[in-house]
Amino acid sequence: MLTVTFYGVRGSTPCSCDDTRAHGGNTSCVLVEVEGEVDPIILDLGTGARYLGGDLVARHPEGSLRATALITHLHWDHIQGIPFFKPLLVAGNEVEIVGPPQGANSIGAELTSFLRPPAFPVSLDQLPGRVSFRDAANETFQIGSARVTVFDVPHVGATNGYRIDAGDGSIAYISDHQQPLDGSHDVPGHIVEACADVDVLIHDAQYDAAEFAQRAHWGHCTPDFALELARRAGARRLVLYHHDPSHDDEWVSGTVARIQAAAGPSIEVIGASERLSLHSGTQLLTGRRVG
Ligand SMILES: [Zn+2]
Ligand SMILES: [Zn+2]
Repeated sequence: MLTVTFYGVRGSTPCSCDDTRAHGGNTSCVLVEVEGEVDPIILDLGTGARYLGGDLVARHPEGSLRATALITHLHWDHIQGIPFFKPLLVAGNEVEIVGPPQGANSIGAELTSFLRPPAFPVSLDQLPGRVSFRDAANETFQIGSARVTVFDVPHVGATNGYRIDAGDGSIAYISDHQQPLDGSHDVPGHIVEACADVDVLIHDAQYDAAEFAQRAHWGHCTPDFALELARRAGARRLVLYHHDPSHDDEWVSGTVARIQAAAGPSIEVIGASERLSLHSGTQLLTGRRVG
């Protein structure tokens, strides 16, 4: 079984307004816990990572954390939490950051080239915890008993999607996904295949149709496009994710209701919110649920 907990659900930039409070204003960060495993898997390290880091430090004895962070790509909203990730302030902790190489450069070379002065007061190798890096693209590997499948996602720049299978549970994570520029719902076949029969599909849902028409080439999609992928892949749950900073809680809740009505009873549609936990592999749903 896999347990997924959301710590950041916002796209593009954090927002701390009253009208986004229910779903939350932190950017992309999701904790994945595998039953029987101590070491956590993290999906993206946006600003939500600051809060996740606090929880991990409280749960793991000092210096014992071995975490793997699967980063989709290097846009700010997916990495801004790295220097504020509390486990890196504790000697002995180790975090491996896995993500797509950027052209000829490794993800490690790219990240360390700007996560240092003058953009941040110290460089990552000056933090007490140890950070290591690994490139990953179109491959499959194990993290303990979990199998991770890495696949290309159309966006702006090299971007990965991830599928994690463990026991009878499976999740797929596609944070940013460029819909065809003509607004059609033609999902690439390799992505449908990667998400086949998944229990939980966490997917970009940044724009409505009118917004997409204005910003078609900005790398995102509509919730309707996400639903088309969920349908074609046979996903059981669709979590609408990467909410636009301009979308208030009412917008997100209304969109969840609309997409649920379109999906019918075979797919459960959920609006991602901070601190929501989902158990994959069963029908059990716990935690705070909004929309
Ligand atoms: Zn993003
Ligand atoms: Zn992006």
